[in-house]
Amino acid sequence: MSNDYVLPSLPYAYEALEPVIDAQTMRLHHDLHHKVYVDGANQAVQALAAARESGDFKLIDYWERKQAFHLSGHQLHSLFWRNMAPPGRTGTPGQELASALGASFGSTDKFKAQFSAAARTVEGNGWAMLAWDSTDRSLLVLAIENHQKQGLWGVVPLLVCDVWEHAYYLKYQNRRADFVKAFWDVVNWSDVSTRYTTASASGR
Ligand code: MN
Repeated sequence: MSNDYVLPSLPYAYEALEPVIDAQTMRLHHDLHHKVYVDGANQAVQALAAARESGDFKLIDYWERKQAFHLSGHQLHSLFWRNMAPPGRTGTPGQELASALGASFGSTDKFKAQFSAAARTVEGNGWAMLAWDSTDRSLLVLAIENHQKQGLWGVVPLLVCDVWEHAYYLKYQNRRADFVKAFWDVVNWSDVSTRYTTASASGR
């Protein structure tokens, strides 16, 4: 069908983010974990199409749940890979983004402190997210559970950090805080800045 979701290629080699994220973690995370979400999203949309065709909606709650979980997982992982760059090639927040971080959080450092705290403490599996709130025209930090809970409407994700154990356990074991601290060394600020400029330009 026309809207099949596809596993995107990584924009760098598996070992490109070392020593922050090891090659084996990247290989398992991208090739296996992300692929589960792509396959799950396709399965859900196909099941919903079949339900519309047959008129049999008795499993609608199940498939809507699967669609939300797997499609959100696919979207967030696709963003996560692009949000990172090899250490030393990450750039700095662009002037527009830095100014917006200051306006919404007080400073870039205060934003990083809030984002890090959210990433360290989100319960169980989840994500920290910097998001553009198109309604209020401001930036927010969200602490997402699983891939789709504690979100808001009308926001555009700009930067995400995956804190599911599969994202860091091989190298960091239970030390999620160490992973979150190291994550900043691979944040692709050029990518985040571009996303901010694009998101904030619409609806002006
Ligand atoms: Mn993940």
